[in-house]
Amino acid sequence: MSILVEDVMRAMEHLAPLPLAEEWDNPGLQVGDPVAEVRGILTCLDVSEAAIAEAEQVGANLIVSHHPLIFHAQKSVRADNPLGRMMLQLIGKGIAVYSAHTNLDIAVGGVNDVLAEAVGLRKLSAFVITQQDENGHVESLGRVGTLPAPMTIQDFAAQVRAGLPCDHLRYVDAGPRPVRKVALCSGSGAEFIERAARLGADCYLTGDVRYHDAQHAAALGIHLIDAGHFATEYPIAHALAEYLHQELPDVRVYEDKVARDFFQTL
Ligand SMILES: [Zn+2]
Repeated sequence: MSILVEDVMRAMEHLAPLPLAEEWDNPGLQVGDPVAEVRGILTCLDVSEAAIAEAEQVGANLIVSHHPLIFHAQKSVRADNPLGRMMLQLIGKGIAVYSAHTNLDIAVGGVNDVLAEAVGLRKLSAFVITQQDENGHVESLGRVGTLPAPMTIQDFAAQVRAGLPCDHLRYVDAGPRPVRKVALCSGSGAEFIERAARLGADCYLTGDVRYHDAQHAAALGIHLIDAGHFATEYPIAHALAEYLHQELPDVRVYEDKVARDFFQTL
């Protein structure tokens, strides 16, 4: 039985419904024909020329990414700018792109749940509420969870590093407070430090933290871990591959294994 791009879209929207997305976001099919037959799927964090080459190499004609390929209206598609070049490559090679962004951050089983599990949190609950229905059911960006036993910030930071694809991270040690309750937001969530502190979290885990964010956390008395935008989100590529393989067993699904954080350290 042949699987079409729209079948994969349906499976993705079952996991991460489009109405969960933030208003400014652009999730959904970015490039391609909804009724084209899918010969293989590559899951990744970012669409890049390397990911397109990887898809072509394994024979995948659909890329499922977390970060959308296209965010803003384009007035031209030209090979002399990076986005235009990728779009031309995708169209030329007949490779479609589907992205699930903030809807996948928020969805149960999405980026934040995968992150929480990777760093050892349990009993997860909502963090930053994005929607609430009349029955009191909420959707949230990020999660709050607890560790099975309290640990020092140094030990928790080491556990985070071990659980994520990063070989270093930065953290703020806000004093002797043990870490038991942890709030987190994958990617870029420094704006929620104060909210995490107000919820009584001992530690807040996110990426893209700036100096004054760290200063603010220290002043609030909450430990802060910046494990990086890449490391807090890249595990979703593996989770998506597993999910799609389960939902669509007739399609070959590959996960991007060549992506690396853009940042290097020395
Ligand atoms: Zn991101």
